[in-house]
Amino acid sequence: MSGTARAAIVMSASGAVEVREYALPEPGPGEFLLEVELCGMCGTDAHIYRGRLASIRFPALLGHEIVGRLAALGEGVTTDHAGEAVRVGDRVGVFPSLSCGRCYECTVRRRPGSCPERRPSYGFASPADRPPYLTGGFASHLHASNAGTVFYRTDLPPQTAVLQEPLSVALHGVERAGVRIGSAVVVQGVGAIGLMAVVAARAAGAARVVAVGGPPARLALARALGADEVVGLGRADDPAARRRAVLDALGTGRPADAVIGTAGSPESFVEAVGLVGDGGVLAELGNFTDRGAVPFNPYSDLLKRDLTIAGVYGAGPDMQRRYHSALALLERAGPPFDQLVSHRLPLAKARQALEALGGGYSLDGRDIVKLAIDPAA
Ligand SMILES: [Zn+2]
Ligand SMILES: [Zn+2]
Repeated sequence: MSGTARAAIVMSASGAVEVREYALPEPGPGEFLLEVELCGMCGTDAHIYRGRLASIRFPALLGHEIVGRLAALGEGVTTDHAGEAVRVGDRVGVFPSLSCGRCYECTVRRRPGSCPERRPSYGFASPADRPPYLTGGFASHLHASNAGTVFYRTDLPPQTAVLQEPLSVALHGVERAGVRIGSAVVVQGVGAIGLMAVVAARAAGAARVVAVGGPPARLALARALGADEVVGLGRADDPAARRRAVLDALGTGRPADAVIGTAGSPESFVEAVGLVGDGGVLAELGNFTDRGAVPFNPYSDLLKRDLTIAGVYGAGPDMQRRYHSALALLERAGPPFDQLVSHRLPLAKARQALEALGGGYSLDGRDIVKLAIDPAA
């Protein structure tokens, strides 16, 4: 391929982000080159940017929620992983994780995240100043340089297709929470994962979904995506009042069958435990980095109440199935999925975006729901 690619490179922890140029590579057998249309940015990127992921060395090219058009196909790449024929120009979503697909962890335990042959996922490979280049989505092009990279063709608009990865995480949470037909569900937190959890709970058959969270724009979106009721933090700012408001919103005065915790502070975890009814399940997704410990009484908080608490880390075991299911759900007409991406930002604004994500949740004077980098912007 002739031509150049541009990529936003994080030079050091919490440091500058430089847009650098690279020669476009020719994809080898089993590989492909993607022209990135949109790449979602999430809390994980913000944590990496701050140097909180030990496996990442700087300079680094981030971005793992990747949607784009196939720009060049290596020898042997003729279909996506659902068996659909693909051609140059087709839009695809790329599964970022790279495991062998043959070992004990991959096949028997179905935990590709524990695969001993696992290579760094797209958006997690570093350092970026030596090959392979173009391994992350905050760039004009992605070089899928690992033969057999999983991807799926889609006709969804990029701003919807880019939700495939966050929705697969929410699906994991809702499955682990045991949500089923008729369940009363509370989704705590209305960031992108919380909003996706509303969608997932509805799809799983929940009879009542209550979302609890902050910014009014996100609460409105939670309703549009299927929440029956929303509880704004402003309406009840101490935990006891908030609990009463949530139980009222559930309509029965009783706590929930399942709570999906996505708020992400140790205090919110304690609050989530208090929202689950006896015999119910709390699936905790929010505390995915170490923000400290909380007092917890194994007798009164757990055993006496027959509670189940599930720790949910990313899309989890079986992540490929969830990734594929997420696309199928997004392809259903109805929910306004295309409204989640609140900001499409050029590569040159990657640093501002990474800083905003870990900070005030507002950028360019507007509330952040979901940020995405649009390399053509
Ligand atoms: Zn992510
Ligand atoms: Zn493996």
